[in-house]
Order: sequence, then structure tokens, then C-alpha cells
Amino acid sequence: SLILSPRLEAMAPSATMAVTQKARDLKAQGRDVIALSVGEPDFDTPAHIREAAKRAIDEGETRYTAVDGTTALKAAIARKFSRDHGLDYADDAIMATSGGKFLIFAAMLATLREGDEVIIPAPYWVSYPDIVRLAGGVPVIVETKASEGFVPSAEALEAVITEKTRWLFLNSPNNPTGAVIPKARLAEIGEMLLRHPHVWVLTDDIYEHLSYGEAVTTLPAVVPALKERTLIVNGASKAYAMTGWRLGFGAGPVPLMAAMRKLAGQATSNPSSVTQAAGVAALNGDHGFLDEWRSVFQARRDLVFSKLNDMGLDCPTPGGAFYVFPSCKSVLGRQGPGGEIGTDGDFCLQLLEETGVAAVPGTAFGAPGHFRVSYATDTAALETSMDRLAQFVTGLG
Ligand code: PLP
Repeated sequence: SLILSPRLEAMAPSATMAVTQKARDLKAQGRDVIALSVGEPDFDTPAHIREAAKRAIDEGETRYTAVDGTTALKAAIARKFSRDHGLDYADDAIMATSGGKFLIFAAMLATLREGDEVIIPAPYWVSYPDIVRLAGGVPVIVETKASEGFVPSAEALEAVITEKTRWLFLNSPNNPTGAVIPKARLAEIGEMLLRHPHVWVLTDDIYEHLSYGEAVTTLPAVVPALKERTLIVNGASKAYAMTGWRLGFGAGPVPLMAAMRKLAGQATSNPSSVTQAAGVAALNGDHGFLDEWRSVFQARRDLVFSKLNDMGLDCPTPGGAFYVFPSCKSVLGRQGPGGEIGTDGDFCLQLLEETGVAAVPGTAFGAPGHFRVSYATDTAALETSMDRLAQFVTGLG
């Protein structure tokens, strides 16, 4: 029989994908399923971006490119960082990849030695700990509290720094909580990091354009001295509704980017040439559509947030992304149609089986007793799903 590598054995399958697959299966059986489990905008990729891709195909931009992206794309990425954050990066400090996820993979595989520690605030994006483990590292989880809006504190992060710490991960707006780290808190975290020069930072800014309060900023823009040990992870998936196109882009210290480029050269090679052409149009083009998307998302957030809190499924107001992360602790121990609800996993499973509403258990994000609701679904379906959820909760014994 097949022998698996110990590193793969240590990995958990993506829980969000598992719930989404189960929802798909039920749908295929003819069930009326509302997936609040998806991590992608429900909008279409804007027309000017799609047109640029079609043009690229017709004009023969269909060959291998430089591993880290075309000159045009890298220039567009450089302009983006300068425009949005006042950060200047040279050409060799920038890299385009096949999705933002691969940037994280490349950074960890390129830098971690066996047993190196990576600090990850929880709730975290499902993939972080598994990527770290696959690369031989040890995830060090720091819990954040709902009562503090799920924003990490400098003190709590500093408390777990050891000689073995290599990286600190930050993600704002956050998946799964929607939390935005305010600029003042970033400054505190940055000041703290100045005392620990051996710790590098990976800041995952992929939801930066989806924020409903203050504009989102990024650590090296707030504490410029950290630019020389910070990797910015970003991508086209969320801001331009381009999840299927697979385009990530990052910026960081030149030696790190060179190491990551070397790795990509032996793994994925360049991201799709057609996708890169679309990425140029996305980054250089009009961003007016984002205002409309943000106002739609914000209205949905307000709807979901207030309904959930009315049901006793408490959550803080998320400042960005398209997720809310309520507690289901008030229903644990109660009886559902499928037996006792002992965990967030039981809650989500019974909710899906009984009502067709798919949400992801908080355990997957390192936060048992919670669940993640994505509101990247049309408003009518959201209203229906909230009614079904309320009925389910009220009906528990
Ligand atoms: N980072 C976070 C926090 C995410 O939620 C996602 C996607 O769900 C990604 C990174 C990676 O996105 P992609 O690989 O589509 O660029």
C-alpha cells in the first residue's frame, strides 16, 4: 500500500474545502443548500480585466514568462505598493506567484529549519499551521479574544517569542473573524518587534481592499524599519474577484525574494501568462467598482451581524473581509435532531443536514466554540439562511 511522507501525515485536509464539498454533495442530491462556507466574492471578475485576458490570448501571450512575473506585471505591482502604502520596492523585491497561498508556502519552505517557531494569532486562516508544519516548522498559536475584537496585542505576541522564533504572521482584515488591526495597534506590535531583530513578519493583506471602516494599512508602512524583515503577501483573488485565476503577489527583502524565486522556479514556474496580463489590467485599471462591492458587503455584514447577535450567537462587529465569526457556545450541550450538540463541528454538521445551511466549524481556525459565516452570497439567500439558522437554534432541546 501507499506509504505517505511523515510531513504529509502531519497535515490536516482543508476544513473549509471539506464543508464546501459536503454542501456540494447535498446539492447534487437535490437538496436546497445555502453555502455560507465559501471564501470567495460572489461578484464576477470586472469586464476590463476579462477583456485584457482575452486580448493576451489572441496576441500570443501564451508562453513561459520569467518565473516571478512579466516586467509589466512587476511594474504594476510596484506601483500598487507605492500608491496604496507609500512603499517603494525594487524589481527584484517583488514576485508574482500562482495564488497568494503559494507565496506563504515558498516563504516557509525557503526559510524554515526543523523546529523553527512561527507565531500565528488565532483565529487563523486554516492553511497557516499546516504550511508551517509541512516546511518543518512549529506553529506557536496565540489566542485573541472576541471581547477584544479578535485583535492581537503586542504583549501577548511578545510573551511567546523565543530564540527559535523565525516568523510572526499577521492577517488584517482577518479570515475568519473579519478583524482589522487598527493602525495604532500595528504601531505597538511594530515597536515591540524592534526589540526582537531575529523575528521576521509575514503580513497577509489579501483582504485589504475589503474594509468598512478606516483604510487598512500594512506593518512596514507604519514602522518602516521593519520593511527589511517583512514579507507582504497579497493577491488578486479577493479584491478583483479572481479566485480561479490564481494570482498572488508579494514584496519583501531581496535575499528572501531571491530564495522564493529559486523555489518557484523548481515548483510552479511562472503564474499563468494570461492571468498575469489580467493582473496588469486589474492593478493598473479603474478601482471604482470596489466602492460598490464594499457597500454591498457592508449592508450584508450588518444584516448577518445583527441577526446572529439576536439569536444569541454573539460576535464582535467585523471591520473587513466578508466573514463574521460568532460563538456557538450558547447552544453547546443542547439536543439537536441528530443528537447532542457537543462541539462546533456537531453544530455545523447538524445545521447543514437539517437546514441546508453550510458554515465552517471554528475548530478549523483554531477557535473551538465558534463558526465562520461568509456573507459573500446574495442578500436574499443570506436572509433565508439567517431565518433557517434562527429556527434551528430555537428548536434545540
Ligand atoms: N490568505 C488568506 C487569509 C486567505 O483567506 C486566502 C484565501 O482564502 C489566501 C491567503 C490565499 O488566496 P489565493 O491563494 O487565492 O491568492
